[in-house]
Amino acid sequence: MKVLPLLVFAMGVVAWEATAQDAQCVRERAAMVEAIRAYARSAAGVLGQQGLSERVLEAMAQTKRHLFIPEQSCSIAYADRPIPIGLGQTISQPYIVALMTQLAEVAPDHVVLEVGTGSGYQAAILAQLARTVCSIEIIPQLAETAAKRLRDLAYDNVSVRLGDGYDGWPECGPFDAIVVTAALGQPPSPLIEQLKVGGRLVMPLGPGYTTQQLTVVEKIAPGKTTTRGVVLVRFVPFTRSQN
Ligand code: SAH
Repeated sequence: MKVLPLLVFAMGVVAWEATAQDAQCVRERAAMVEAIRAYARSAAGVLGQQGLSERVLEAMAQTKRHLFIPEQSCSIAYADRPIPIGLGQTISQPYIVALMTQLAEVAPDHVVLEVGTGSGYQAAILAQLARTVCSIEIIPQLAETAAKRLRDLAYDNVSVRLGDGYDGWPECGPFDAIVVTAALGQPPSPLIEQLKVGGRLVMPLGPGYTTQQLTVVEKIAPGKTTTRGVVLVRFVPFTRSQN
């Protein structure tokens, strides 16, 4: 007889805590977007006067980054910092995710390739701006977790595949944009081949673990590209499969 009211009370407390946590997450996420906006303004040399587009900022505002990190904590998730996601990998700093997305110039009818799915966060951002996102991850456990997470969160236009992204994903392309989130000395030639004319490849060029040049490679004609270094960044290395 006394158990029922107690249970109802306990459920009420749980629901209240969940709502309070949601409200905190919403506040922290809004603060993160403002921090990114301010940072982009102060770095006008990188992006030009127009800064980050409202479309990109809106995607950042809509995406629950706390659901992509192991702790699921909002105070950790919405600081403008990279976060370890296990197996020696990191989810990039939100400003860098926004910057790479902006540089890729993703439009609603675009097909986009991501190399380095990691947590799936960058793929989720791209999914809100493009028609289709194909994402490749080389570490089986990360590929599996990210694919399940994106499915559970109903990002239905994202496909995740386990493999070495060096060779791209020809069956999914050709691509309007390619975003690579691991560092390599040179852009992989299969990725340039799978890029449409007019499309952009955004990736960190340089050795892993030190600083690299975030670079935009634009395909201006078949077999012809232009390359522009944007800003120094620090990414994990691009690894190659053994076979
Ligand atoms: N974009 C991710 C961050 C990725 S960190 C996110 O939003 O969370 C870089 C990722 O690239 C790691 O998960 C790493 O395993 C992966 N990676 C490194 N080399 C790769 C390769 N050759 N092919 C596919 N993925 C690769």
